[in-house]
Amino acid sequence: MTFSRRNIFKRDHYTCQYCGAQPGSEELTLDHVVPRAQGGVSSWDNCVLACMACNKRKADRTPEQARMHLRKKPLRPTWKPLYADHEVRIESWSKFISEAYWNVTLRE
Ligand SMILES: [Zn+2]
Repeated sequence: MTFSRRNIFKRDHYTCQYCGAQPGSEELTLDHVVPRAQGGVSSWDNCVLACMACNKRKADRTPEQARMHLRKKPLRPTWKPLYADHEVRIESWSKFISEAYWNVTLRE
C-alpha cells in the first residue's frame, strides 16, 4: 500500500479524525499526530486527516497536549486499492500534476 495522500484520505474516509467532520478534501489537511517539531515522522501510524479548525487548534502539539482525542488509532491499511494507481489515465498536464499530488509516495 503506497503511503500517499490519496490513500490516507481513503483510509480515513475523508473524515477529520478529531471531530468527525467531513468538510470535503479541499478542507482537510494531513496532521502529524506527534508533530514533526517534536520528532514525529510521516508514517501510516503518525498521519491522520484533520479539518482546518482542528488542525489550527492542535497546531504543533500532540493530541494529549492539545486535549484532543483521536477517534481511532491510525494504522497501515490492510485493504487493497480498487485499481492500481498507474492505471489512471493521464489526460492532461494539469491532471498529471493533480494525480502526482495525490499519488506520490510521501517521505517517511
Ligand atoms: Zn475536525
